[in-house]
This record gives sequence, structure tokens and C-alpha cells, in this order.
Amino acid sequence: MSDAQVFPDEETENNLENKIPRKIGFVHLGCPKNLVDTENMLGLLEKDGHEIVASEDEADVVLVNTCSFIEKAQEESVQVLAGLAEQGKKLMITGCLAQKFQGELLDLFPEAEAVVGINDVPDIARIMRRTAKGERVLATQQDPTYVLEDDSVRRHVTLGAWTYIKIAEGCDYKCSFCIIPSMRGRFRSRSEENVVENARELAEKGVVEVILVGQDTTSYGKDFGGSLASLLRKLNKIEKLERIRFMYAYPNLVSDELLEAINECEKVVKYLDCPLQHTHPEMLKRMRRPVMDHVAFARRVREKIPGIKLRTAFIVGFPGETEEHIEHLKQAIREARWDRLGVFEYSDVDTAHSQTLDQKVPVEVIRRRREALMALQQEVAYEENLKLIGQTLPVLIDEINAYGQMTGRTQWDAPEVDNTVLVKGEALPGEIVPVEITAAGPYDLKGFVVS
Ligand code: SF4
Repeated sequence: MSDAQVFPDEETENNLENKIPRKIGFVHLGCPKNLVDTENMLGLLEKDGHEIVASEDEADVVLVNTCSFIEKAQEESVQVLAGLAEQGKKLMITGCLAQKFQGELLDLFPEAEAVVGINDVPDIARIMRRTAKGERVLATQQDPTYVLEDDSVRRHVTLGAWTYIKIAEGCDYKCSFCIIPSMRGRFRSRSEENVVENARELAEKGVVEVILVGQDTTSYGKDFGGSLASLLRKLNKIEKLERIRFMYAYPNLVSDELLEAINECEKVVKYLDCPLQHTHPEMLKRMRRPVMDHVAFARRVREKIPGIKLRTAFIVGFPGETEEHIEHLKQAIREARWDRLGVFEYSDVDTAHSQTLDQKVPVEVIRRRREALMALQQEVAYEENLKLIGQTLPVLIDEINAYGQMTGRTQWDAPEVDNTVLVKGEALPGEIVPVEITAAGPYDLKGFVVS
């Protein structure tokens, strides 16, 4: 175990008046929820007088907000840290890898000035003051309870037409392939007032689309008698906001109340992201996921909200998965016709229950199964996109690249994971413009601005 000083005694704390401004570089790894933490830590450090620099070369210390969701993510985080260490960079290690491995990382990386766990994100500036004086700090606690409340200092890495708002932290489920609850702790919501105020401030800054994220957004409010439906209705009243999206719904928490809120709130996009992970009951039981009729689920949502687009995600290659289970998934894709689908290859991650399961599926079989499902989905996606040719759709212009090429998204597309629209004509980033669709591919559309 490292000899790093854990946390300051009172007397030392009070002697920290003279700050040592530093140039801070950063590397963000992992999911949108982790991105919000990265941006908040940068904001707290900037507020405390440090300079956030774009390139690591000019940085005194590099904050690496790590991911540890699956083996591959852990390897990537360690590779990034090792790469920076080789360049002689001082490191501040935060995020899920820091929460999971804690003091071991101080031993593994002598270049690390501090390892900061989930619960200590709000103390990042105080920790930086200590490391600036040459101390090595281990600031980690088991079972984090931290909930982001003040998002006002957040320093957005990219603030364009859209941005993420983290509405909750942690998760109470025990999916057998997932270690997030062991790193992020039990489920806890941000206060509704705080989220609404946060969204209002962002809309004032020109954000037209907010994307609500959490490990499980549909549990929002269960810890204070609120609900995601109620939050959506409150956000729908924010004048300057034009689009409200939420990601990561938990299947059996997609209530009629929630579907009514989506349907009745004009700013809430008619889009539902609900990772199902698999469809075969045997696999769902082994995954410790709710067993349900997914085709009926898709039908119910579409009946409640005509025209809604459904996104889901599957994990293939879970221990014990057979060809019969894959046929079941293929049949569900043909019948449910999800509009957007992500298929992920299962991989063991230490401390996850699934790692202890037998009947592991060989990697090449997993790869073949994923490709087969994505090929099937590509047909579905293409057929659905072809139906949009000739229609005029509201498209949010996200960016105009160096060649003047405009790209945007319909209400049915989340950034970074779904389709894009290549747009011709006159428009500005952040504008929602009517675009007549002239061509379609499986995963993108083309069209021109209708004046
Ligand atoms: S719902 Fe399951 S997969 Fe998602 S964060 Fe919670 S335990 Fe992990």
C-alpha cells in the first residue's frame, strides 16, 4: 500500500491559502456520465485559479478521468496513463479506474500525484493544492454517495447546440456482467430544482438540446418521491430549450406515465433509448436482467407514441449463449425492428459475477455473432431510412466542417451513437431547420434545407 497522505488534518487544511496556479491538461475516457465529471473537475480547477490547457505538452499535470466498465476500457485507461508517464507527465488519476483500484494506482504509477475516487470529485481543487506542494494524495472512499449538485462551474469540453446533463449517479441493479454499481455506488438522484436550473442556464448559453444521462435515468426521483416524467414536464417549460432527450432507460421502468410525458411534451424528442441487453429468457436470467416480451414492449411503446423511434443495445457472447439464443435475438430484430441498435461483444471483467460463470463463448464466435446481428440490423435500418426520402424533417445542425459540409440530427438521433443527416443549403450550427430528405443509407440521410 502506498505511503501517500490520505487527507489533510485541520491545521494543514487552513494553511493552504497560497495557491500555486498550474497548467492542467486532461484526457477524458468513457461514457457521457464520466464526461460531465471531467467537465466539472476542470471547472472547479479553473475556478481555483489553474489554467486548463488543450495539449498535454504544455501541461504541468494531466488529469486523466478514467473508465473501467469492461476489460478493454480498463486496458485503454492504463495505456493512456502509461503513455503519459513515459512522457514524464505528472498525473492526476480520477474516474472509475481510480475508484476501483485506488492506492494500487499510486504504486503502479510513481508519476501519479493523486488518485481521486468518485466521492472526492468535488474536492479536486483542494487535492490539487496539496499535490502542487509536492504531496501524493489518495482520496478515495468505498461506496460513494456523491451527487453532482452545482453544475454552474462546469467547463464544457465542447459546448455546441447540445450537451449532456447528469441527473443521477450510481445504480441499484445487479446485472451480472456489470461492475458499475461497485464503482459508482447506490442510485441517487440530483434534485429536480437543480437539474431544471442547470438546463435553464445552458439554454441561456445557447444550448438547444439537453440529453439527460445517468446509469439508469428511469429510476430518477425514486429517492425523493419524484419521477423522470415529472422532470420532463418541468424541463418542457424552459422557453429557450428546443429538444429534451434522455438515454439509458431501464426496460421495466418504462411506465405509461413516462410514455405519456414523452407524448405530451412537445420538446421531448419522440425517441426512446432502452438497452435490453438480450431477448432470450435464459440469457436474461443469467444476466440478472428483467425477462419480458421485447416485441410486445416495442409494440406497446409505438402504440402509445406514434412515430417514436426506438434504440436498444444487446450484448452477444454472454457465457452460456447458444446458436438457439442468437436465433431468438435475430427473430426479435426482424419482428421488433428497432430503429437504432448497438451490439456489443461480451468480455469478462474482474469482480463481475459473470466472470465466474461457465460456458464461456470463444472470441471468434462472439465476433461472428455480432457481425451477423449487425448485418441483419443494417437491412432493417436501411429499409426504415428509405421510407424517409421525400419527407421534410426538422434537423438540428450540429456542425459545419472545414469544407463547409453541414451535418445535423433529426429528433430520432442522439449524438455520437445514432444517424446523422448531411445537409445542403443555408443554416447555422444550433439552428433547427426543415430539411427535405433526398437520399438514405443504413446509418445516415442526405437532404437540403427547405427555405
Ligand atoms: S442497470 Fe445494469 S448494466 Fe446498467 S449500470 Fe446498472 S447494473 Fe450496470
